[in-house]
Amino acid sequence: METAMTTAEEWCAAFTARATHEYLEDAVRSFPGRPAVDFLGKAWTYREIGELVNRTAAGLQGLGIGKGTKVGLCLPNTPYYTIFYFAVLKIGGTVVNFNPLYVEREIAFQARDAEVRIMVTLDLKVIYDKVEAVRREGVFDRIIVCPMADILPQPKKALFTLFKGKERAKVAEDAAHVRFAGLVARGGAPKAVTIDPDTDVAVLQYTGGTTGVPKGAMLTHRNLSANIEQMRDIFHSARPGEERMLCVLPFFHVFAMTVAQNLAVILGAEMVLMPRFELKMLLDTIRRTKPTLFPGVPTIYTAINNSPMTPKYDLTSIKLCISGGAPLPVEVKETFEALTGCMLVEGYGLTESSPVVAVNPFDDTRRAGSIGRLAPGTRAEFRSLEDRHTAVVLGEKGELCVRGPQVMLGYWKRPDETAQTIKDGWLHTGDVGYQDADGFIYLVDRIKDLILCSGYNVYPRMIEEALYQHDAVEEAIVIAIPDTYRGQAPKAFVKLRAGAVLTAEELKEFLKDHLSAIEMPREIEFRDALPKTMVGKLSKKELIEEEAARRAAA
Ligand code: AMP
Repeated sequence: METAMTTAEEWCAAFTARATHEYLEDAVRSFPGRPAVDFLGKAWTYREIGELVNRTAAGLQGLGIGKGTKVGLCLPNTPYYTIFYFAVLKIGGTVVNFNPLYVEREIAFQARDAEVRIMVTLDLKVIYDKVEAVRREGVFDRIIVCPMADILPQPKKALFTLFKGKERAKVAEDAAHVRFAGLVARGGAPKAVTIDPDTDVAVLQYTGGTTGVPKGAMLTHRNLSANIEQMRDIFHSARPGEERMLCVLPFFHVFAMTVAQNLAVILGAEMVLMPRFELKMLLDTIRRTKPTLFPGVPTIYTAINNSPMTPKYDLTSIKLCISGGAPLPVEVKETFEALTGCMLVEGYGLTESSPVVAVNPFDDTRRAGSIGRLAPGTRAEFRSLEDRHTAVVLGEKGELCVRGPQVMLGYWKRPDETAQTIKDGWLHTGDVGYQDADGFIYLVDRIKDLILCSGYNVYPRMIEEALYQHDAVEEAIVIAIPDTYRGQAPKAFVKLRAGAVLTAEELKEFLKDHLSAIEMPREIEFRDALPKTMVGKLSKKELIEEEAARRAAA
């Protein structure tokens, strides 16, 4: 693909990698008085956030934290996340993101593997107690404790202080526990640190990746700044200094870190933070703050489309939405666009590429069902599924391999897994797809999810798309089950819309018009809820494990 290649090379030649915190400093200079963060009704301007970042950075240096120190952030979306993220980066440290819903064992594994020296968390018992238990095991030395009450607006703060005593953690008064207020008290600017964007790791982002075992993708400042500049190009129609970004996806996930937080910062947008996803709270927040940009995952848009509460809300402030992380069913996109009048485009990425690889354009050329065109500066090849090496011809299906300045340095302390994933500079994504003559990419599935049925590749994603075409189906997951005759066969798990009634036989009858005999699910199981990952993607893992356990016991 000569033209795409030349364009990608030109883009890369013009791109200058920067230290990530400089983007926040730009915003502080350009939009000092504009709100940067709204947390449940309390606001901080860019000037105030910039000042807190500086004080925090100086405080961290006072604790001996500097170049290369791994700092764990175990925080939901709160102003503290943004403050610590940029403060750690400014002094040359590495951010290690933790999901606050992790259990102790998961926190301990990741903190040990990443060699985290200090953890930042809230003074809420549900999170703090787990972090403290891991500290006591000796996994890291210190915890920085951020008080929840201090970021709440009145009267929520007063109510929280009066009535939520039981939810607040008892934090010991010793050198192992540093209070946020104490950290920022000495004020002043941090000592300047030289950052090499090409080699300094900004974020260690943990992922199962294509090989399953959790491992840290080393994202350098160059990787992050490339993805930030790529997003700037993609969102060229956004208006700097005027947008409000709805941040419901958690910042500890790479999608929201880049496409919600970092994108908001370069646009001087106000980040409307939601500490968790709850539909009524989301709709009320939209009513109160009138956001214009809304990155999400398909399950969030689906929940909005299907809720009986939705018609009572005006959603028309929303203009540009980007869905990623999982396939966006065409029907979900169309219903959401009709409800809001926005443009909802599908994009694609993965942790290992900071994450954005491809996005649809924000104009009438966007194509439903496609993940869009490559981000600027990015090249793609589709490689044979047989040898996972030879490039296939344009239009044929193969493993999507990508190359670009957003592709990680490698996995932390895992040279073998790095070598399996990045070969000759090409990141092997483990996703199967093809590209059309106009450069639009279509994904068919992940290699590891393919079902080998009588020697044919059956793509669960295609079966899921067919299931979504039935009006009664709200969510669907298809996995492989063993089949004595065919090797493997598809099994579908389906969640019906509220109030819908449907039998497996009726659904199979409907599917006959959409699927070949080999693709027809051998079993259909209805469930009240389907498992989801921490960002709300439908998750196959639990169902695969349940099926295996059930069959082993039978
Ligand atoms: P993670 O690294 O956890 O963000 O997961 C990345 C994986 O999510 C990719 O390798 C894809 O399998 C999947 N993914 C992301 N975006 C899409 C999309 N638009 N359509 C289908 N799968 C996607």
